[in-house]
Amino acid sequence: MTAPRAIRVRHWRRFARCRGLASAVRDPFFDPTAEAEAVAICQPCPVAAECLAYAVSTGQVYGVWGGRPQQEVRRLIAHDRQGRRARTNGAPIRHHNARKTQCKHGHPFDVRNTYYTPDGRRRCRTCLRQAKRAWRVRCARRGRAAS
Ligand code: SF4
Ligand SMILES: [Zn+2]
Repeated sequence: MTAPRAIRVRHWRRFARCRGLASAVRDPFFDPTAEAEAVAICQPCPVAAECLAYAVSTGQVYGVWGGRPQQEVRRLIAHDRQGRRARTNGAPIRHHNARKTQCKHGHPFDVRNTYYTPDGRRRCRTCLRQAKRAWRVRCARRGRAAS
């Protein structure tokens, strides 16, 4: 049975074909001499698109992801970082800010100001800091009001 798409996207690792295949002594996904073997394992994987989207959006520059060799994953990451739509043959570019150069408040999506959530979404560090500051102020006010 195929899991619903929303479940697959969020919990793609659960459905990974490579699950349990790698060990401390042998991992074809991170062994350049076994790249073809890893790519072959990925071919029928039901979550290859989600795996590749994760690797691209979180900048996984080592290993085979989504059935693509390391060099290709790197090329897709480079495209993504330039804010261009990466050509992933239908794999979703999951973070909605992938093509933007700034967050909605105008802060740049550059290396220093960008972080990725575990599900691969791109976020603005400046906005996060401001939100935390505002939250602390609200908490302090509430604390004063309560005392
Ligand atoms: S595409 Fe390959 S590396 Fe990704 S989850 Fe599937 S088997 Fe594992
Ligand atoms: Zn911002």
